[in-house]
Amino acid sequence: MELNSLLTEHFRLTEYQKKALKKLGIKTAKELLWHFPSRYEEMGEKKTIADLEEGVRATIIGRISKIDFEKTWKKKINIAHASLDDGTGMVKLVWFHQPFVANLLKEGDSVQISGKVQKNEKAMPDGRQGFYFANPEYEKAENNQTSFDAKNGKAGLLAIYPETRGLSSKWFRIKIQTALKKIDIKSLPDPLEKEILNKYHLPSLKDALVYIHTPKDRKNAEAARKRFSFEEIFFIQISRQQKRKLCEKLPSFEAKAGKNETDSFVKNFSFPLTKSQQKAAENIINDFKKGTPMARLLEGDVGSGKTAVAAIATYIIFKNKLQTAYMAPTEILARQIFESFIKYFSNTGAKIGLLTSSDCRKFPSKIQTETSAKIPKSKMFKWISEGELDIIIGTHSLIQDKVKFSILEKEIYKDKKLALVIIDEQHRFGTNQRAALINKKNESDKNRIPHFLSMTATPIPRTLALTVYGDLDLTLLDEMPPGRKKIETEIVAPNERENAYEKIREEIKKGRQAYVICPRIEPSEEKTASLISLNMRAVKDEYEKLSEKIFPEFIVGMLHGKMQPKEKEEVMEAFEKGEINILVATSVIEVGVNVPNATVIIIEGAERFGLAQLHQLRGRVLRSTYQPYCFVFTESGTQKTLARLKALKTAKNGFELAEYDLEFRGPGELSGKKQWGISDVGMEALKNIKMVEAAREEAKNLLSSDSDLKKCPLIKERLEQENLNIHFE
Ligand code: ADP
Ligand code: MG
Repeated sequence: MELNSLLTEHFRLTEYQKKALKKLGIKTAKELLWHFPSRYEEMGEKKTIADLEEGVRATIIGRISKIDFEKTWKKKINIAHASLDDGTGMVKLVWFHQPFVANLLKEGDSVQISGKVQKNEKAMPDGRQGFYFANPEYEKAENNQTSFDAKNGKAGLLAIYPETRGLSSKWFRIKIQTALKKIDIKSLPDPLEKEILNKYHLPSLKDALVYIHTPKDRKNAEAARKRFSFEEIFFIQISRQQKRKLCEKLPSFEAKAGKNETDSFVKNFSFPLTKSQQKAAENIINDFKKGTPMARLLEGDVGSGKTAVAAIATYIIFKNKLQTAYMAPTEILARQIFESFIKYFSNTGAKIGLLTSSDCRKFPSKIQTETSAKIPKSKMFKWISEGELDIIIGTHSLIQDKVKFSILEKEIYKDKKLALVIIDEQHRFGTNQRAALINKKNESDKNRIPHFLSMTATPIPRTLALTVYGDLDLTLLDEMPPGRKKIETEIVAPNERENAYEKIREEIKKGRQAYVICPRIEPSEEKTASLISLNMRAVKDEYEKLSEKIFPEFIVGMLHGKMQPKEKEEVMEAFEKGEINILVATSVIEVGVNVPNATVIIIEGAERFGLAQLHQLRGRVLRSTYQPYCFVFTESGTQKTLARLKALKTAKNGFELAEYDLEFRGPGELSGKKQWGISDVGMEALKNIKMVEAAREEAKNLLSSDSDLKKCPLIKERLEQENLNIHFE
């Protein structure tokens, strides 16, 4: 077997297993070996049943003397029961929610089980006080051998893999051990240099692979995880820093701004800039002077006023007779930006387009110059390509092939090129979507790269920012516009709901509006639902309940991602105009929506959201000088959830919450894969600023002495491979 051998050629797999593996993205032996355990279970000493003590972890080998399965009629829980006999006594085994155990293990099977010894009230048939194991790890012993490698009398660690339907931890343990034996692990080349391994006390690749799957003890497992997380961060650093260096060498568009000009543009806002907005604008003005592409991330809490900064950048580009493309993640948001820009640019002569999947508009309209007019899409594509439009605002629609910049048909627009790409709420886009817009270079001027302004309200921990934004300059908007009040946040117990509803009633009577956010759209179907999701509040249910029973005197509206764009727009418009008092929505409203008159937000099922996301959600009501309120409802009363949610009350800002989230969410809960392209093991490194700084430093050293990675073919090859993967995603 080799690293790139297909698993299907070496293991007999059922269709079900094949599907499950595909879902996990595991095809080859390498992908199997790099599927790391999410945690380790203490295996406890190997014991005989006669020696068991309550509360202690133990591993025993015995014979199944009885096994069956029942479904409790009341709670519909599947339970498998078994008795295990090892000649010295008998214990009971129970597995909840795992009825299949009763099919896998048969009477007479010799098995090894491991878990915590618990005491049963009733005595066992042999008269002794009964012990039992609940949901123990189990494995059939063939020739008295199992993959639990516990030596006689000595405790060990059992690798537990991320939960997957159809593939148990045990399945992974066995297959991985086979792979570790069959592959020539010792001769695998290590992408990390010996000096680095020694300097940071990291195990070699071959040791780390063995330790991570079959650790002798906790230290052993930690060392292996540390190595893999360092490696991952190190590679991300190299790739980002390389990109950065490349970008610094490329030509872009010089754009100059006179101070008077920008000052007079700023007068179009109905407010003076905050100090941080001014500083951000200065940063950008300086970048535009350089002639190399700007690559800047503007990070600021919700409501900190990023749109105004983006407008200033756009204005400078416009004054230099160049074009700007501004991409936002939702139609609602794109339209709001379009409307704001019409206000800001109305006296400048700029022509602005809006392109979303359902809407296509141009400002100014030929007939009514104060407003925009609907235009056919074909016209929009033509105008974009000719350079007729100065600013194009839109959703993902902007990255379709038909959108082409400056093909140069009209002489008068000869030098008008796409020179600035702005991406709002950039975390809502994938890497390749962001790249796609930047890569829409000008057909007639492919050498110059547009400037890039990325914006986000997602406060992320410093370690994560240093890692994933290694190729961007960072500007923080760390100041709120004046007069904003602190959101009064309450964590509400189920029996205190009424008070929150009363608060909404009061606010609406004062003329304000409210949001109610639910974690899902429809009530889940019982068949597939777990107990947790059954309790999850659904938009449709809440809408009915609130409009009919709780607030019959008010107008309640509903907004969710499955509605037609047109419907969404109508609802949003009605809410903006104040025609809807209460808007029941999913987290689609999380991004950027701006209705200053809304001052109350209720968040249902808050335990389903990350703290940073909750913070963003509640930012919806921090858009004016009114006192805002946020009521956080949770169905889960666990201490852990409550403690986590309390941070919403105490944290001073989003960054503090992000750090808190990183610290307190358990492994596997950080979902770095989807959002950042970082694995769970990689996320572990982010809890350790020293490790991130070390990886950054080493990457810098490497690139400064060997910028093309000529001396490190292994690293080079891997980075190229990863870039290819991103390209084909
Ligand atoms: P975000 O950073 O979340 O994108 P927006 O740009 O949508 O925030 O701004 C939020 C609100 O604050 C808008 O209504 C905007 O007009 C207002 N605003 C922005 N800057 C200022 C400022 N300097 N003073 C007062 N209000 C401001
Ligand atoms: Mg915004």
